[in-house]
Formats: sequence, C-alpha cells, structure tokens
Amino acid sequence: MTVGEGVVIDVEGLRMRYGAKDVLHDVGFQARHGEVIALLGPNGAGKTTTIEILEGFRIRSAGRVEVLGADPAQGDEAWRARVGVVLQSWRDHGKWRVREMLSHLGGYYAPYGSERIRRPWDTDELIAAVGLTEQAGAKIMSLSGGQRRRLDVAIGIVGRPELLFLDEPTAGFDPQARREFHDLVHRLADDQQTTILLTTHDLDEAEKLADRILILAGGRIIADGSADELSRRIAGEAEVRWTRDDQRFVHTTTESTKFVYELFKQYGEDIRELEVRRASLEDTYMTLVRQFESGEVENEVHALEEVKR
Ligand code: ADP
Repeated sequence: MTVGEGVVIDVEGLRMRYGAKDVLHDVGFQARHGEVIALLGPNGAGKTTTIEILEGFRIRSAGRVEVLGADPAQGDEAWRARVGVVLQSWRDHGKWRVREMLSHLGGYYAPYGSERIRRPWDTDELIAAVGLTEQAGAKIMSLSGGQRRRLDVAIGIVGRPELLFLDEPTAGFDPQARREFHDLVHRLADDQQTTILLTTHDLDEAEKLADRILILAGGRIIADGSADELSRRIAGEAEVRWTRDDQRFVHTTTESTKFVYELFKQYGEDIRELEVRRASLEDTYMTLVRQFESGEVENEVHALEEVKR
C-alpha cells in the first residue's frame, strides 16, 4: 500500500510482543489530515502500547508504521516538533507561572516553524484558547484540577502540532470543563486542521468528538468506522418507545421508519411521546467487545477486512 495524500498515520501489520506475550497482532489503520479518531477498548487491549509506538516512545516488534511521513522509531527533533502529546498532569514546576511556563516551553519549538505553520503558538493566544487567561499570572500549584488539565493541554499544543495524542483527556473533569475541552478539540481539528488521536473510556465523549472510532480488543482492531457506521453495521435495530392511553410501549425493530408509519396509521393522534433510538455507541461497543470475548469476532474482523479492500 502506498501512502495516499493527506495520510498522517499509516500502520500496517503492527505487532508487539513483551517477552513471550503478543499484545498487538497485525494492527492496521490510517488517519487522515484533520481527522479526529477515538481509540477505544477494554483495559489491556493494547491502546497505550499502540499510542506509544506511534509517539516513538516504544519500539515495535514488527510491522510498518509511518507518522507524518517518518518512522517514529527514527523520528528526529524536527519530526518530534510536529507531534503533540498531552501527558497526565505536570506535577513539578509548581512555582512557575502559567504564562512563564508556556513561553519557556514554546521557545523550544521556535526553530521548527515554517511559512505554513508558525511555531510556537503565541503564548497569550494559546492561554486564551485553553481558557486560562485569568490564571495566566498564577503559579501552577495554585490551579484547580481542571485548570491544571487545561495547562497540560496547552503544553501539548504549544508547538502547534500537526498531530496530537490525547490519552483520556477529560478524566476527572466536571461537565463544564468537559464541554469546554470538547469545544477546544473541535477548534483544533476545524481551524488548525490538527489530526487528533485520543483514547477515552467515555463513549459519549468518543461519539461527540470523533470522526472515526477504532475499537481495539485483545491486540486487534475489531471495528473501524464512524459511530453511525458502527451502530448500523452491528446492531441494525432501533428501539421505538411511545405512550398511548397513558400506557408506555417499547418495541425493538430493524425497520423503525416502517414501524412508526404503521403505528401512526393505526393510532394516529393517540400516539404520544414517540422516541426512536438507534443503538448508541455504548450499545455497539458492548456488543462488539462481547462478541470478541466469546470468539465470534473472527468473522467480524474478516468482514471488516473485506470492506476495506
Ligand atoms: P491498554 O492501554 O489498552 O490498557 P496496554 O497497551 O497498556 O493496554 O497493555 C496491553 C497488554 O500489554 C497488557 O496485557 C499489559 O499487561 C501488557 N504490557 C503493557 N506494557 C508492558 C510492558 N512494558 N511489559 C510487559 N507487558 C506489558
């Protein structure tokens, strides 16, 4: 396979073995410029291993991996400057102030700017983008948990990365901080055309943020598609709920439009509180992972490979 235009991550036949244990078997996927991808999977599935290989922090056992046109295992400083990693909280540097810290770290990226992408990000603009303007002069140790996490994000993007890795970015956020963070991710992808690969256990978050979902289980990609595509392919069933004469009804069907049409034909205005709910990403995820665990998934993986060809 040749790397197509706009492909930022290209992985084929990736394998990882720790001692005698294979934890990634033949992982393959691509990410395109400006795409937001959520990598999901149960604990131990191999998400961290995969991401750290892409980041160049772990050396794979076999397979081909290209990230921004280079093998991450050989990525030089100029390559690294184009990649952003948001790590779990920076605990040191508590006495530094927010602006001072970002301006200092940004300095490292200055030699790697180009006509197209000026590096680093202007400190005050960056601080505003992550919503820390009021805390710009504050010491890091005085920040709240949510503010500190925003600073982590700012540190990860100060070099205006073309590709950003986010590992469980909103773990521990309150709903408002989570929403603000989601807005920031959308802005990075839409305005800056940043490609983003994130891991999360929050399926609602994955559905909101990701253009594409990858599900990794037992070291294999068992699903790859938009949340809609996955729910259509896997479940195919919708739940129709309604009330009539103060009685509640629930019916599961693969042909919800036809069913609702018939329902109205029969009962017309007596139908109230109608709700049609397609399988959520959570339903889909649970189904797929359960299938995988019960051994049914081989067929799914083959079906997926057929689709990709
Ligand atoms: P996830 O991030 O999806 O929870 P990981 O990539 O952390 O999964 O782990 C995948 C598997 O590899 C697990 O079984 C884990 O125990 C094993 N593993 C991870 N890192 C190492 C390591 N450094 N040495 C040995 N085994 C490891």
